Amino acid sequence: MTDAALSLRPASPYAHEVERRRTFAIISHPDAGKTTLTEKLLMFGGAIQLAGQVKAKGERRRTRSDWMAIERERGISVVTSVMTFEYRNCVFNLLDTPGHEDFSEDTYRTLTAVDSAVMVIDAAKGIEERTKKLFEVCRLRDIPIVTFVNKMDRESRDPFEILDEIEQTLALDVAPLTWPIGGGRDFAGTFELKSGRIRLVDGGDDFAGEGLGALKGLVSEHRLATVTEELELAQGALKAFDLTSFREGHLTPVLFGSALRNFGVRDLLDALADLAPAPQGLDSDKRPVEPDEPRMTAFVFKVQANMDPNHRDRIAFVRICSGKLTRGMKVKQTRTQKMIGVHAPQFFFAQDRALAEEAYAGDVVGIPNHGALRIGDTLTEGEDISFLGVPSFAPEILRRVRLEDAMKAKKLKSALQELAEEGVVQVFRPLDGSPALVGVVGALQLDVLTGRLLAEYGLEVGFEQSQYSIARWVTAPTKQALDEFVAANRSGLAEDLDGDPVLLAGSAFQMSRAKDRWEKIEFTDVKDVR
Ligand code: GDP
Repeated sequence: MTDAALSLRPASPYAHEVERRRTFAIISHPDAGKTTLTEKLLMFGGAIQLAGQVKAKGERRRTRSDWMAIERERGISVVTSVMTFEYRNCVFNLLDTPGHEDFSEDTYRTLTAVDSAVMVIDAAKGIEERTKKLFEVCRLRDIPIVTFVNKMDRESRDPFEILDEIEQTLALDVAPLTWPIGGGRDFAGTFELKSGRIRLVDGGDDFAGEGLGALKGLVSEHRLATVTEELELAQGALKAFDLTSFREGHLTPVLFGSALRNFGVRDLLDALADLAPAPQGLDSDKRPVEPDEPRMTAFVFKVQANMDPNHRDRIAFVRICSGKLTRGMKVKQTRTQKMIGVHAPQFFFAQDRALAEEAYAGDVVGIPNHGALRIGDTLTEGEDISFLGVPSFAPEILRRVRLEDAMKAKKLKSALQELAEEGVVQVFRPLDGSPALVGVVGALQLDVLTGRLLAEYGLEVGFEQSQYSIARWVTAPTKQALDEFVAANRSGLAEDLDGDPVLLAGSAFQMSRAKDRWEKIEFTDVKDVR
C-alpha cells in the first residue's frame, strides 16, 4: 500500500498494538538447541508460563506428566504450546513447534499461525534433515526467517561454509548481521557488520567497542588477523541485508551465538524486534482481513484436550487476526453460525496478568471449551467469513482399532471422536457401517493415541492392519456427480470428521484406477479445514 493510500484509511485504534506484536516459531533439528534458546529468550522477557501448564495443579499436573512421559521416552516434544513475553516494548508470541517429524501436520498448523520463524542451526552440523523439512513448510507461505547459528562455543564449521550450505541447500540468500570472532574454545564474541560494534562472550550486555581495533589486546594477534581477513572477504562476497528480500522470504539474516552461554540471544531478539514483520493481513474466503481492523477475527490452529481427565475440557489455541478480543466477549463460530461466549480466555502473558484482559492481532489465546471449537474454525464478531489454509493431510497409515474389552465400544467411539477433533488422529467411518478406521501421518501418532486412550479414557487398544492403505478426499463439480460417484463406490467410501467423503483404496493401483474411471471427480491428499 502506498503512503497516500494509508493516509486515506481511518487511523486504527489498534495499529499501535499490532505494530508491536511479533509472533514466531523456532524451527530446528532435534538437539540443535531450541529448548536452550527458548529458555534464554524467555529470560529476557521475565517470567515464563507454558500454555500447557497453566493452572497445572494436583490431578492436572499428574496427567500432564503422564502425557509428557511419551514425550520423554521418545526424546521429543509432542505438545505445542505458546509463550508470550515482552521485550523492548514488543510483545513476542513464541509458538512451540513439536519436534518430531511424525508431527508434520501439527507443525504445519502451528506454522500457519506465525508471521516469522527463527531457524536454529548447530554450527558443527549445518542444515539437518528436520530443519530442511520445516523450512520447506515455511517457504510455502514465504515466512521470513532469521537464522541463529548456535553452539559457536564448540568445535564448529567455518562460517563461510555454513553460510554457503544455507544458501545452497535451501536456495535462500544469506546476509550475516554479525560475524564470529573465533570458534570453539576460542570463540571470543561477534562483530556487528553494520555498526562495527563488538560484543564479547564474557562482556555481558555491553559492547566492547567499535571496530576491529577494539580487539587489540583482547584476542591474539593471529586471531585478529584471521577475523580481519574473514571480514574483508565477507563484506566483499556476501549480500548486504535487504529488508524487502527478507520480508518476502528470499533472504535470511544470520546471527552467530551460543544459546548455552546466553551469547547472541539479545542480538536475536533485537533482530526480531527491528526486522521481523508485525502481523500481516490474511485472506479469508470473502475478503482479505487487515490486522488493524476494528472488528475481531481469529482462527483455531490447535486444540489440546484432556489436561484434566475428570473434566473433558479442551483448550482451543486461537490466533487473533484483527481487532481486539476481550474477556466475556461473544464471538461467532462461522462454521456452525453459533455465538460462543468467551468467558475465560487464557492469555499466556508472562509478567502482567492485567495485560491479559485483551488480545490483539498476532496474539494467541487459549479458549477452554467442551469440544465446540475445532481446528480451522473461524471466530468473528458476526461477519460470515472463513480463513483459509489450516489443512488436513491424507494419512499415510490406516488402522482398525482393536479393543480389549468389547463392552467399551461406545466409549471408544466417543474417545476417538474427541481425539480426532483435537487433531491427534483422523477417523474415517465407512459408509457400509463397518468399524471406523484411524488414520495417522506418522507411526508415532499411533503410540500417542494408545497412550492417551489408556491414560485418559481407560481404554486398552491395539491396532490391526486394514484392507485399506490409502485415503483421498473426494470432490465433484456438482452434487449430482458426487451422488453418482457415491452410489457406485459405497463399499470403498468413508466419511471424515466433518462428514466429507473419503475414498479408501487398498493400493496405489486401485486408486489410480478410480481416478481413470471417474474423470470429473477430484481426489486430493490435502484438505483445507474451514
Ligand atoms: P533441542 O533438542 O533443539 O531442544 O536442543 P536442546 O536445547 O535440548 O540442546 C541440546 C543439547 O545441546 C543440550 O545438551 C544443550 O545443553 C546443548 N546446547 C544447546 N545450546 C548449546 C550451545 O550454544 N553450546 C553448547 N556447547 N551446547 C549447547
